Amino acid sequence: MALISRYGNRQFGNFNEQDLYSGCSDAPDEHYLSDALIDALNFLWKYYGTAIEISARGGYRTQSCNAAAGGAEKSQHLLGRAVDVNWKENETAIIAHLNNDIRNEGIVFQSLLDLGIRGFGLYNTFIHIDARVSEGKQNYNGIKYAFFDQSTWINSIDPPVFDGNVQDQIDKVDSNIFDKIKGFPKAVVNFIKQIFNTNVEDGFINYGGIIGFVSRLLAIILMILFLVLLI
Ligand SMILES: [Zn+2]
Repeated sequence: MALISRYGNRQFGNFNEQDLYSGCSDAPDEHYLSDALIDALNFLWKYYGTAIEISARGGYRTQSCNAAAGGAEKSQHLLGRAVDVNWKENETAIIAHLNNDIRNEGIVFQSLLDLGIRGFGLYNTFIHIDARVSEGKQNYNGIKYAFFDQSTWINSIDPPVFDGNVQDQIDKVDSNIFDKIKGFPKAVVNFIKQIFNTNVEDGFINYGGIIGFVSRLLAIILMILFLVLLI
C-alpha cells in the first residue's frame, strides 16, 4: 500500500500524488492506496495511449462519502483498494473495448490480473477495478476474481468494437499485400494471412506470449527460405 498525502507532491509514473488523493471532502490528510491500483492505472494509461484519471469520488472513500456515492457497504473504496477510472479522450471507444476484453478474459484483463487486480466492475461511463484480498466467484487459470456490471449494459446495444489506428494500418497492409500476390497458391496466402492476423487482437497488437511470437518468427524465416529455394 502507498501512503498518499493531501499535500504530497511525489510522482507515481504518470500520476502526481495529488491525482491519487481522495476526492472526498472529509478525507483525512493521509490515506492508503493499493500499489496494484497505481500500477494498473499506469498500465491502462500506457496501453490506450490516453490520459486517464480517477473519477470524482472514485478513489479512497470515507464512510459518509461512500454512502453519498452510492457505494456498497463493504466497498473496496473504503480500504483504498479500488478506483473508478475515466479517460480524458476517446472514452466511449476505450470503455467499449475494455468491456469486450474483460468479458472475454482478453489481453488487458490478463495484464491487470498479473498486476494484482482481482475485481472488475463494468459501467457505461467508467470502469471500476480493485485489488481485493477476498476471493471472487470467477476463476481464470486458478486465479479467483470478482466480476460485476451495470445491469443495463447487457440489455443495451452491443458495445462497438474499438476502432484503433493499429487495426486500420494492418487492414491497409493486408489488402495491399494480398491483392498483389493473388497468383500464389491459396494455401500459401492463407498461411501468410494467418501469421499476420494472429498478431492482432481487437485492434491492438498482441504477440500472444513469447512462444507464439517465436513460432511465427520461425514460420516466417522458413517461408523466406522456401521462397529463396523456389527461385
Ligand atoms: Zn468503484
